[in-house]
Amino acid sequence: MINFTVGPVQSSDAVRAVGAEQVPYFRTPEFSELMLENERLMLRFAKAPEGSRAVFITGSGTASMEAAVMNLLTPSDKVLAINGGSFGHRFVELLELHGIPHTEIRLAPGKALRKEQLEQYAGQGYTALVVNVHETSTGVLYDIRMIADFCRREGLFLIVDAISSFLADDFDMAALGAGAMITGSQKALACPPGVSIITLSPEGVSRAMKAQRKCMYLDLRDALVNGERGQTPFTPAVGILRQINTRLREIEAAGGASSENESVAAIAADFRGKLAGLPFEIVSESLSNAVTPLHPLTASAYDIFTTLKDEYGIWVCPNGGELRDSVFRVGHIGALSTADNDALIAALRDMLRRGLI
Ligand SMILES: *Cc1c(COP(=O)(O)O)cnc(C)c1O
Repeated sequence: MINFTVGPVQSSDAVRAVGAEQVPYFRTPEFSELMLENERLMLRFAKAPEGSRAVFITGSGTASMEAAVMNLLTPSDKVLAINGGSFGHRFVELLELHGIPHTEIRLAPGKALRKEQLEQYAGQGYTALVVNVHETSTGVLYDIRMIADFCRREGLFLIVDAISSFLADDFDMAALGAGAMITGSQKALACPPGVSIITLSPEGVSRAMKAQRKCMYLDLRDALVNGERGQTPFTPAVGILRQINTRLREIEAAGGASSENESVAAIAADFRGKLAGLPFEIVSESLSNAVTPLHPLTASAYDIFTTLKDEYGIWVCPNGGELRDSVFRVGHIGALSTADNDALIAALRDMLRRGLI
């Protein structure tokens, strides 16, 4: 199998080897040391400002999205939510569920957010903005610098879901002035699913420490206090946190976050360069290195996904909902090589020869 989905993705041999080991007991100085190193490396790779913290939540990315909404926002906030697809919609649902006043900026699938659209909301008492920097469902990468500039000028607390973008696209938390960044273990971190991470700027930490406690398991204050000694309030996904440690060290040894961005970008560019002659259109106005969203001109996207899986042993990422038949996505994150791209292109050319696309 070759896995070109957007998560879970393929892990390196070293990460897989850790997954085969016995899971150790964790209330030990050794595990605390590993967790403190995980926090240090996460903050370094996110380019978080001095005084920032990172917490590790056992739960997929959505758990951290919900923790961010519950712990960093209150009913006295007034939030702008960018909704360009299913992940933007998820933030809107969370704001709704937790009673946080908000305004949704809805974008059509594949469309980027334009500066003029955002400027309409200037000077109207907004206090925070939530955005999925890469709306993975449609493959649109928003202009985070433009959004961050707006937030800085307007004094908005910026929460960035970078779950599928972190380590694939450049991200500089300090330069952006972001208050929180969220990522997950199964995207470019290329570990099994089950852990998500929130990095908090000093302002983010202060919001979390002052938050009214609404949920025991996703209480960020509790996570922050325990994290000071490299521990978590409850039993975390110990095995995955050990795999994350291996992976973070691997990235560090290979040159850090920017060289990881470059390798993902190179795999993406290699794939996009080999698409010529295939009946597909790229359907995003602004691409992340993490994913190429493709609209097939001659066949159903979902049928292409099924044939590749069943007849070629290659997994691309199908879309759900209204895009089911019109878009499939090819991921470039995880342990993939240009030879893997060649195998996918050869399979697609074979399908073309067989009249399937
Ligand atoms: C994958 C992803 C999530 C998290 O989804 P989970 O299934 O909860 O891990 C959230 N936001 C974006 C943009 C994602 O790509």
